[in-house]
Amino acid sequence: MTATFTQLSANLQALNEVGLYRSRRVVESPQGVNLQIDGRSVVNFCSNDYLGLANHPAVVGAFKKAADHYGVGSGSAHLICGHSQAHHALEEELAAFTGRDRALLFSTGYMANLGVMSALLGRTDSVFEDRLNHASLLDGGLLSGASFKRYAHGDVENLALHLNKATGNKLIVTDGVFSMDGNFAPLRALSEVATANHAWLMVDDAHGLGVIGKQGGGLLDYFGLNQTDVPVLMGTLGKGFGTFGAFVAGSDVLIETLLQKARTYIYTTALPAAIAEATRVSLKMVISDNWRREKLQTLTDYFRQRAGQLGLQLSPSASPIQPIIIGESQRAVDISNTLLKAGFLVSAIRPPTVPKNSARLRVTFSALHEEHQVEQLLDALEKATLQHK
Ligand SMILES: *Cc1c(COP(=O)(O)O)cnc(C)c1O
Repeated sequence: MTATFTQLSANLQALNEVGLYRSRRVVESPQGVNLQIDGRSVVNFCSNDYLGLANHPAVVGAFKKAADHYGVGSGSAHLICGHSQAHHALEEELAAFTGRDRALLFSTGYMANLGVMSALLGRTDSVFEDRLNHASLLDGGLLSGASFKRYAHGDVENLALHLNKATGNKLIVTDGVFSMDGNFAPLRALSEVATANHAWLMVDDAHGLGVIGKQGGGLLDYFGLNQTDVPVLMGTLGKGFGTFGAFVAGSDVLIETLLQKARTYIYTTALPAAIAEATRVSLKMVISDNWRREKLQTLTDYFRQRAGQLGLQLSPSASPIQPIIIGESQRAVDISNTLLKAGFLVSAIRPPTVPKNSARLRVTFSALHEEHQVEQLLDALEKATLQHK
C-alpha cells in the first residue's frame, strides 16, 4: 500500500474507536414495517416512508405498467430526449398539489438543492442557512460560491442581524420539518423577515410534504403560506411519496431559470419514466388518504406520552420523526445494536450528521405501524437504555 492509503486506514480505525464508523445493513425484503435482515424479521422504526407507500400494490402496479410502456432507462437528460409524457404530467400535478405556477423534476433531492442554489446565486450574493439544515442545503450553499452564513437554529433575530450586513441577492434557506429533529422551522417569521429584507426564502420540505397539513400539503399549507411568501419550495419523492426523485415548485420565472441554469438538472439523466408514473399514483393517495396522516398522529402522540413516562429524553417534535437524544456516539450505537437483537431497527444518528455530543436514536413512524409495535419498542428502549448506562 502507498503511504496515502496507510493514512486512510488509520483514519478509519480512528472513526471506529469513537463510535463514528458507519456500516450498512443488507435488507432482503421490500421496504415496510417489517424488514428481513440476516434472515430475521425486524420491526423497522427508521424509514422515511412515513405513509407506507413504498411497496403499495397500486404504486408498484403503476411502475410495472409504465415500465412495459416506457422501458426502464430514460435514455438521456430532460433537455435532450429523456423528458416523457409521464414526467410532464407529474410536474403539472405537483404544481397543482403545491398551489404553484410550475414544478420541475430533479433526479434526487440532493441534486435539486445543489442545482437551485447554484442557479440563483453567484459570488456577489449571500446565502443564509439554519445551523441544522440538511447536508445537501449546506453543500449547495457552499458550492454556489455566495457569501455563506449559518444562523442559530430557528432563530429569526439572529438571521436578521446577518441579513442587515448582506450584499447582492439574498437567499434564506431552511428545512421545513427538520430531518434529524422533527421540529418545524418558524416559516411565518422567516417569510416576514425575508420580505422585509428583500431576500428570497427557500424551504426544503422533504419531511413535511405528504405528512403535515391538510391533504399532505406540508409545512407551507400548515402555516398558510403561498408562492409569494415562499418563492422556492423543494420537495423529495423518496420519503412521504414512497418513490424516488425530487422537485422544485414556484413561479414560471423560477422554473425557467432552473431549466436554463441548474447544472444538476441539465447534465444528468432523467429519472425513469416508470418512477414518474408510480409517483402520480402515490400522489393521488397522498392527497386522498387522510387516514395515513391521522394514524401517524395517533402513533406519535402515543409514543410521546409513554416515552415521557419512561423518562426518555424527547425533542419538541410534532412530526413522525421522534429522536431520543443520547449524547455520546458509542452509547447510541450500543443501544441501537441491543434494539436490533430485540427485533427493532432504529438507527443511531451521529456527528457530523448531527452536532457533537448529540448522537441520537432517530425513531420514525409509518402509517402502517400498529400501536402494540410502538408499545413493544418502548419496552425494548427502556431495557436497552438501562443496560447501556
Ligand atoms: C433526504 C433529504 C434530501 C435529499 O433528498 P434525496 O432525494 O434523498 O437526495 C434533501 N433534504 C432533506 C431535508 C432531506 O431529508
